[in-house]
Amino acid sequence: MGKYFVQNFGCRATQADGAALESQLAAKGLAAAGERSTADLVVLNTCTVTSAADDDVRQTIRRVHRENPEARILVTGCYAQRAPHELAAMPGVEWVVGNSHKTGIAELVTLGDSAAPYHGNIHVGDIFAQHDFLSAPVEDAAGDRTRPNLKIQDGCNNRCSFCIIPFVRGRSRSAPVDRVVEQVRGLARRYREIVLSGINLGRWGREPGSTMRLADLLRLLLAETEVERLRLSSIEPMDWSEDLLGLVSASVRIAKHVHAPLQSGSDRILRRMHRKYRPRHYAERVEKARALMPDAAIGADVMVGFPGETDADFEESRRFIESLPFTYLHVFTYSERPGTPAATEPLAVPMPVRKERNRVLRDLAAAKNRAFRERMVGKTLSAVTLQEPFTGLTDNYLKVELTRDREPNRIVDVAIGSLTDRGVKEQTVTPPLRIPSAIG
Ligand code: SF4
Repeated sequence: MGKYFVQNFGCRATQADGAALESQLAAKGLAAAGERSTADLVVLNTCTVTSAADDDVRQTIRRVHRENPEARILVTGCYAQRAPHELAAMPGVEWVVGNSHKTGIAELVTLGDSAAPYHGNIHVGDIFAQHDFLSAPVEDAAGDRTRPNLKIQDGCNNRCSFCIIPFVRGRSRSAPVDRVVEQVRGLARRYREIVLSGINLGRWGREPGSTMRLADLLRLLLAETEVERLRLSSIEPMDWSEDLLGLVSASVRIAKHVHAPLQSGSDRILRRMHRKYRPRHYAERVEKARALMPDAAIGADVMVGFPGETDADFEESRRFIESLPFTYLHVFTYSERPGTPAATEPLAVPMPVRKERNRVLRDLAAAKNRAFRERMVGKTLSAVTLQEPFTGLTDNYLKVELTRDREPNRIVDVAIGSLTDRGVKEQTVTPPLRIPSAIG
């Protein structure tokens, strides 16, 4: 086997798995191909969170096979775990490896060297038996080399009725504490900001017998490493404990950024989604976050068009969202995922209605985001400078256009002067007025 190319789809967790996969392949002596078209082995590390994600994967498989027919294609990740036979039937696919067998990929492809290519080799097993933790820091997420993403938790024990993730990623499991400390220590030598992520990050440390919680891990990282800024990605609302919120608000080394998936602000829909909280519980956490951190970013994922969502449910959800101090929202349109309980529910919401509800919430999100950005004008915010010239990301998650270029990967204070289309702009420093001295 000559050169490999790994292409990742989907979320931060999948990107982190892809990074770990690359290290395993490199450890087996395989070299990275700079481009997909020149690779002998193309690994597609897939996502299956929506039907659009599935379409994207299938299109890519077809393209790879067309552009580089000699390449051996291995499909892994969440789609491979969910529907291996569907993928194995596609022309050009040699192996389909589920998340259950992902840690053995390097072994598999090098063993396969001696064997003749065999179409549709499937390696998928019981994901709930998986205890291994596969992860390496992703150091160039979205093409930016300044904010590495470190996955410290995988899997999920919840059963939200619309979600396929527990069936493709298995039970919740945490990266061992020593490994996290060591990885953060290493990354902190090179980067100012490190993003901690997971499928259900707030569940870090909840394995039987463990007494450490996520807040304890953060305290340890602050004490044992030089990391300048940690940012937490999404955390389920009920895991934003008093302890965690208190720590985030008190530490200058943790970004003031609270992302808590809401999904719906309708009590009835939340129940039917099997979410573990009611709107009042959610509001209590978010209001607490705002009281402790007046300028923090507060964001949520929300879903529109869940089966049976009536106009009244949607209006209840919209009003609830309007009442909370969100600074941004990620709005998703419900799409049926085969294998989930919600997919068999009657009363599907017609697609045009789903789309209209999505538009309503996006407009609401845009208005809230603009009001937040306006409120930041005149303040000085701490930002990490990004690879993109004249660009930074503030502690409270705003993209800031800098008026003078600074080296990437630095933490700087930025006085906010105005708004850009989607972010904010640094105040222009007017040089002091020079009064010409009198002549004669
Ligand atoms: S908490 Fe719910 S939505 Fe999130 S991964 Fe687990 S099952 Fe899916």
